[in-house]
Amino acid sequence: MPNDQSLRAHYHLLLGLNKDWEVEEVKLSMEARAVHIRLRHTGRSAVICPGCQSRCSIFDHAPERKWRHLDTMQFETELRARVPRCQCERCGVKTIGVPWADKHSPFTWMFEAFGVAVLQSAASTIEACALLRIGWEGAQRLMDRAVQRGLARRSLEDFEHAGMDEKASAAAMTTSPRSTT
Ligand SMILES: [Zn+2]
Repeated sequence: MPNDQSLRAHYHLLLGLNKDWEVEEVKLSMEARAVHIRLRHTGRSAVICPGCQSRCSIFDHAPERKWRHLDTMQFETELRARVPRCQCERCGVKTIGVPWADKHSPFTWMFEAFGVAVLQSAASTIEACALLRIGWEGAQRLMDRAVQRGLARRSLEDFEHAGMDEKASAAAMTTSPRSTT
């Protein structure tokens, strides 16, 4: 078992964190087969307003949030952090963006990319949900967000209906906002 400091440095590297964030704690639960990683924002002064991209001072820190991350050796891995909120002259108080996840996502970028790949290649959504250990709602969310970002061309509903009605999914594709000219 590596010492605590090298474990934290290891996760800092794996998560691709910048110098504004540090891994404060890595908690391994053998019973729950889970790894909980607590991150702390260490940037002292200026942060970037997510609304207008200007530099602002930190107002406070939002309550702790959780993000599902890629498993660590089959241990379900979760990131936890209190994200700073900035005080912007133009936009007011806003929660800043984090390097590991999109604004409202309960998943990290890496988990999203992996999740979408699993959903697209699994025989069924039920199978993908079991592999990823997420619920139907989580799967739906992953696919919706992937479609929005252009990672996937069809939503989960289209996948479900594709076998029964190819025409319906083709129609759904042509009516998606991305395909308008
Ligand atoms: Zn702003």
